[in-house]
Amino acid sequence: MSFGVLDGDGQIAQIEGHPFGQISFTGARYAQADIRLLSPILPSKVVCVGKNYAAHIEEMRAMTGDAPKEPLLFLKPSTSVIGPGDAIRIPPGSTNVHHEAELAVVIGARGARNVTPEQVPASIFGYTIGNDVSERDMQKSDGQWTRAKGFDSFCPLGPWIETDLAGLGLNPADLAVSCTVDGEPRQQGRTSQLIFDIPTLVSYISRVMTLLPGDVVLTGTPSGVGPIRPGQRVECTVEGLGTLTSSVAAADAVSTAGGAR
Ligand code: ZN
Repeated sequence: MSFGVLDGDGQIAQIEGHPFGQISFTGARYAQADIRLLSPILPSKVVCVGKNYAAHIEEMRAMTGDAPKEPLLFLKPSTSVIGPGDAIRIPPGSTNVHHEAELAVVIGARGARNVTPEQVPASIFGYTIGNDVSERDMQKSDGQWTRAKGFDSFCPLGPWIETDLAGLGLNPADLAVSCTVDGEPRQQGRTSQLIFDIPTLVSYISRVMTLLPGDVVLTGTPSGVGPIRPGQRVECTVEGLGTLTSSVAAADAVSTAGGAR
């Protein structure tokens, strides 16, 4: 298991250690078809922002109320992260798990602590796609969101980190974000619709908690969220970043107390 650089020709060049700062290559190259992509980063924490698209606030108003005056932050545990192609596991008895396609910001080598919005670009390593999977019944009944958004497998990330969006002629402040379920369109939006933009969000978070290298910030989801159930296929797409595909499966009953494993 290691990091690598995905070239435009579909080849992956293996790198030594972590991808931050000056990277060095091992010399090994692999065809993408011959390797399995895992989550492109294992963050110490995933910091999320709720209610950051006006149309999504409207569709959720009955549960979560008006637009926030400041960014609304919550955390997803590192154990919720899964990679592209992995299964989102529906908790036992749950019938109201929703997808939330989001642009994900990956923090770079210098981290981010008490940075101004102007200083934020230097703290960003790159961008990927996140799915802020959410159990709506628990989100409503609990009054806060740790359980509803914290289950194992509730944070698909990937398929890779784009470190040069500008080189693709793209701007993170105006990217199309969408989600389909079994090919049927669900969510559609653009990051230009964010209520709090990326420099504002990362700066705000960095004044609360230090963002470490590899930490991930999920920037909020556009409208069109909806339920997913076992057997379905969820595809989250962000312009320039590819498509993050997840299967959906029933709960995983494997216990650390032994048995199936
Ligand atoms: Zn979200």
